[in-house]
Amino acid sequence: MAKPWAKAFYSSLAWECCRSSFIAERILADGGLCEICHEELGYIVHHVKELTPANISDPNISLNHSNLQYVCKKCHDKTHGVFCESKQKYFFDSNGQIQPYPPIKI
Ligand SMILES: [Zn+2]
Repeated sequence: MAKPWAKAFYSSLAWECCRSSFIAERILADGGLCEICHEELGYIVHHVKELTPANISDPNISLNHSNLQYVCKKCHDKTHGVFCESKQKYFFDSNGQIQPYPPIKI
């Protein structure tokens, strides 16, 4: 689901620790609710300032809790649908896998 240049980051121990400590923090704060709609439980840890090849190695961006948001699947899809810079849009299917949007018909 990650962009090719982001794969190493998302499989790194540093991100895994950052992500799980952030989720633990959110669960302590409000039970782990989505920070946007406050209705659904969080599902994805989202980078508020989107990661780029230039900033991904900067821990102040990529591993900074204040740049993270715990969001539900619905809100995350919405965020990326609106702000995604690439022309191709994607969404997360029920298995959490990224899929092109609109779905490709075969
Ligand atoms: Zn939400």
